[in-house]
Amino acid sequence: MEKLIVANWKMNPGTWQEAEELFGAVKKTGAVICPPFIYLKSLAPYENLGAQDCFYREKGPYTGEISVTMLKDLGCKYIIIGHSERRKYFNETDEDINKKVKTVIEAGLIPIVCVGETEEERENNKTEEILEKEIRDGLDGIDYSKIVIAYEPIWAIGTGNACDIEEAERMKEVIQKMTSKNIKIIYGGSANADNADGYLNQANFDGLLVGGASLKPDEFKRITE
Ligand code: PEP
Repeated sequence: MEKLIVANWKMNPGTWQEAEELFGAVKKTGAVICPPFIYLKSLAPYENLGAQDCFYREKGPYTGEISVTMLKDLGCKYIIIGHSERRKYFNETDEDINKKVKTVIEAGLIPIVCVGETEEERENNKTEEILEKEIRDGLDGIDYSKIVIAYEPIWAIGTGNACDIEEAERMKEVIQKMTSKNIKIIYGGSANADNADGYLNQANFDGLLVGGASLKPDEFKRITE
């Protein structure tokens, strides 16, 4: 099965010129690219475009928000939902996430739903409890065959402290037990060109969600090779 490599540019790289250069350098990888909303229209002919978030209403008085209809119209295929940065800085709850996931599926797009524990939760042996809650509430009533789950231990995101391959694999199996054996699960958290093979081929993840390394064209290309 082909692996799903997703570039999450977050609020990077800065200017449109930098974004255009970065895109030009990585577009041949065929990876899913999730740039800031404002760049989507310019990159729109690209066949594997994704968004970093969406709102669950179709249109109306929701200042600053972007609907799934708008993203679909621009050719987005994937939408990242419930990234830990959205949960942390924008107070997104599992209930919000559930509504967003439903809206994305109804529109025929694929949600990439992020779940994962903080360092403190891991140290207190709460990892499985957290995953269970995020899955129970965030994915209530969802057809698992229509989504991708990104296991993203929060302590590994942007820290350079990636999760051990064996431990990540164990968490993948925990998530499969909570959902379905056939669900697509990708890994995220300081993935890079050196550890990608371990997650993809040793731990058998279905792909990777890549933040920091997706901004470095040479490194990102090696991840996708
Ligand atoms: C992310 O933000 O989804 C992520 C995985 O970031 P990084 O690769 O920088 O840890």
